[in-house]
Parts: sequence; structure tokens; C-alpha cells
Amino acid sequence: MSNLDAKPKLTVSPGATDAGAGDQVQLLSGRRVLLGESSEVRRLLPNLGRRMVGAWCFLDSYGPDDIEATAGMRVGPHPHCGLQTVSWLLDGEVLHRDSLGSEQVLRPGQLGLMTAGRGISHAEESPPGHPPILHGAQLWVALPDEARFAPPSFEFHPSLPVLEDGALGARVLIGELGGARSPASAFSPLLGADVSLSAEARVELPLEADFEHAVLPMSGTVGVDGLAVSPGVLLYLGPGRTRLSLRADESCRLLLLGGTPFEQRIVMWWNFVARSGEEIAAVREEWMGGGAFGEVHGYDGAPIPAPELPPGTLKARGRS
Ligand code: MN
Repeated sequence: MSNLDAKPKLTVSPGATDAGAGDQVQLLSGRRVLLGESSEVRRLLPNLGRRMVGAWCFLDSYGPDDIEATAGMRVGPHPHCGLQTVSWLLDGEVLHRDSLGSEQVLRPGQLGLMTAGRGISHAEESPPGHPPILHGAQLWVALPDEARFAPPSFEFHPSLPVLEDGALGARVLIGELGGARSPASAFSPLLGADVSLSAEARVELPLEADFEHAVLPMSGTVGVDGLAVSPGVLLYLGPGRTRLSLRADESCRLLLLGGTPFEQRIVMWWNFVARSGEEIAAVREEWMGGGAFGEVHGYDGAPIPAPELPPGTLKARGRS
């Protein structure tokens, strides 16, 4: 998915060492963002209250939307660099095409993981004859310095390990949870899991104590440490926890995200993650000049032009 904000704001993450007072629990509201002409998403990260959770730096959740009478998702070719995109569906289908020549239909339970590294472009759309409902999340992971100029790649994981325990089923997208380890490539300590709870569930999940975490409700209401959260919000949980208590009165589904606080300062603008405003300006020029991000074949539509940079020189702020 592309960040289709007409005027994307420059986002400078302060880095872990000066990340403020470190609230242990934060309830963050999503912001409604219009993508294209009709589809609306809830943007949970970056958020006024918090920019990152571990290396997770961007989080949109969308649907469930009835797209039966529409074309559904149509996001034309656009570039990425310095990040991984995680495409995750609860319902529906999305066709991914990228400049490496990958062409893959993603379905619920299957992971599309694109490591942009130094640069890639892709397009995403609802395939012809798509199912009527579209429901999912698009997440980005910031790459650490040692991986951010690596060659781009696309991984498709049609099945993922599941942690099952009575009322709990947790599919592990990335990282490891309760002994279930995802084969997906990660470049910093990271967790992403799709957790299903059946009615009357009372479960405890083991957590990595040096991770910070966040809970994103996708359907139904989940009780997290006595706090009831529903779709539309992101619940941030600071580091130092070894267990997470979840309860559900009715069945529900949530994404559990985590990672060690990201140590490097990032500059995020439009679809790019970099380390300085100069770097952002350079990759924007590369995209507008064509070539450097490759070409996506097979998508019926034009590449998305980069928005104008905000006025003035984009500068990363000092660490202290
Ligand atoms: Mn994208």
C-alpha cells in the first residue's frame, strides 16, 4: 500500500534514547485517512502520541469493507526504500506485483513480506472476481542501518506457525511467540502475531521483557490487563513485561506487535524511510526521474507521482 496523503508530513522519530518519559500504557486513537477515491483506512502509526513500536513505524488497518460492487483496492506503482512492508488480510484477496517481477495473490492467513532495502516499487489491487469483503492491515518495519541498503526482495509465506492453546490461536507473522517461530525475514528483534480468541477466553501470552508491544484490535473487544479495547485504537505497552493477560467475552481478533525500542533515528516521508532530509529528497528525485526503483509490469494504471516536499530543508533533529 502507498501512503497517499497529498501532503505527507515529515516524521522524525527521536530514537530510543530520547523517547520521552516512557509511558508504560498508552491508548492511541487512529486517524481516518482517505486512500484514493473511496477507501478509508485507520492510521494507528505514526501517531501524535507515538511514532514507533519497536521497528514498526507505520500501521494502517482497513475494513471490513463491502467492495462487491466496486473495483476494491487499486494502488498503482509506487516506490519504497529503507523499510519492509507487511501485507496481512483477515478477509479478501490482494494481488501484489513488484519491480522484481513478483506477482502474487495474497489471501487470509498468508504473509506478503516485501523488503525494500535500497529500493523497490510495487502495486496492489483487488484481483478480478475478488471476494466481496476486504479486511486487513498494512504495516511497515523500519530497517536498521546494516540492512537498509540491501537488495530488495519479496517473500510469500503461504502458511505460518500457529500457537494454539484452548481458546487461543495465534498465527506468528514475524518473530517468535510461545515457541512458534515465523520463517519471515526480520532485521531487528521483532514480533507480529494475529491472535484469535474464542468467547470466554482467558489466556496469558509470554512476552519478551526487552520488547515494547502494542495491541491492535481487528474485530471484537479484547480485555488487556483489565482495559477493554476495540477496533480503531492501538494500545501501547512499554518494555519490562513478561506476560500479557488477554480476555474475551465474545470472540475477537487482534494483532500483537512488538520489538526492542528502535535505536536509530529515522526520517519517514511518503513511502520512504531514511536518516536525513537530504536522503529523502534524493530518493524522491530518483522516483520522479524513473529507473532507480524499477518498473512494475501488468498493472493497468500509471505510477503514483511523489508529492511535493514540504518547504524548507528537511532535517533530522539531534539526538540530544
Ligand atoms: Mn506500498
